[in-house]
Amino acid sequence: MRAYGDTDTEKRLIRINVKKSKKSGNRGEVLNTIIHETEHAKHPRLGERQTYKRTARLEKRLSRRKKQKYYNLIK
Ligand SMILES: [Zn+2]
Repeated sequence: MRAYGDTDTEKRLIRINVKKSKKSGNRGEVLNTIIHETEHAKHPRLGERQTYKRTARLEKRLSRRKKQKYYNLIK
């Protein structure tokens, strides 16, 4: 997988490149990727720029519990 993550809207599958995300940073990077790809899945018609904006906004508002929930999605 080249990217940090990708989304297959047909299969409803989000893949996160944990190795790559971990390498370049920390859990925050992984979290950002999860939210980003989740936003793609929820709003497949939004472009990359809008998805980045939404992700930044959502990440700021996220509680610790919610963040933990996202981490738990990683298998
Ligand atoms: Zn994207």
